[in-house]
Amino acid sequence: MKEPTPRPTGGKLGPGRQPPGSAGAALRSWYEPRKDAYPWRTSPPDPYAVLVSEVMLQQTQAARVAPAFAAFLQRFPTLQALAAAPRSEVLRSWAGLGYNRRAVALSEAARIIVRKDDGRIPTDPRTLATLPGVGPYTAAAVASLGFGAPVPAIDINMGRVVARARLGREPQDVPRTELRIAAEGWLDRTDSGGWNQALMDLGREVCRPRPRCPACPIEGFCRFRREGRPAAPPARRQGPFQGSFRQLRGGVVRALLENGSVTLRRLSTEAGQPLDRVADACRALAAEGLIQAGPMARTGHPMGRVRLADQGRDGRRFPHRS
Ligand code: SF4
Repeated sequence: MKEPTPRPTGGKLGPGRQPPGSAGAALRSWYEPRKDAYPWRTSPPDPYAVLVSEVMLQQTQAARVAPAFAAFLQRFPTLQALAAAPRSEVLRSWAGLGYNRRAVALSEAARIIVRKDDGRIPTDPRTLATLPGVGPYTAAAVASLGFGAPVPAIDINMGRVVARARLGREPQDVPRTELRIAAEGWLDRTDSGGWNQALMDLGREVCRPRPRCPACPIEGFCRFRREGRPAAPPARRQGPFQGSFRQLRGGVVRALLENGSVTLRRLSTEAGQPLDRVADACRALAAEGLIQAGPMARTGHPMGRVRLADQGRDGRRFPHRS
């Protein structure tokens, strides 16, 4: 996706009311041309779209999420449509995003909301956080971006900005409670969703692990910059994907999407991996509710064929679309 073109600060302010000449006003002006950059940022906000996008964004970059999100919403335009869909179809629509357990959790969350709350997504972050796949960050993001609840949604990017700009420290040096209190104190309650997104964007684009302070709209207000703190070296990157257990798990799910039910031996041949390793992957996927495997043989391998799960973890079968 094409990145929005940055504009100089001082333009039209967003809906939040920030005193002219403040850090908040500068941040708002910087965010203004970015506020429609992604398809899930609609006006008025659609809480279902926010929920889907936030789950997709948990471990996938926004540029990769954007096309997958559009296709997913076309296939499942409402929470009810998602709740009624077989799990295999949800997984099929998740293809390309990886970390498939998120798709299962999202499908499960939709079914719970339909069953318990008549299809209305909860507005309270504490209730949201009880749903599968919805942690404290995602709950706060859905509550603020979808419903305007006055809560900060502190992801890794926003945490970095708040820690540096407000407290003059790196986020790893700030206790969680202190960071949350600082974020709450800075929150623009007149438009918490826009404020949270602006800070997340700033952390992702400018206040990166190696900060780009000369390009930062709040440079003149930043404690970290004022105190001349050096940025900590970037954290070590994740290990290689190639040959990883995660790659194998993704391969098992892909093979089941393409072939329906498959024997363990065939999965092992297709993946070019030892039977024991594939059995481990199947056991892990079955424990997370992604697949259904037969009972375990004495070897510890699932017997019979392996298939994608279309049932909730409580064993209840949900209606399938025709
Ligand atoms: S001035 Fe530098 S350290 Fe401060 S918020 Fe901006 S990019 Fe981050």
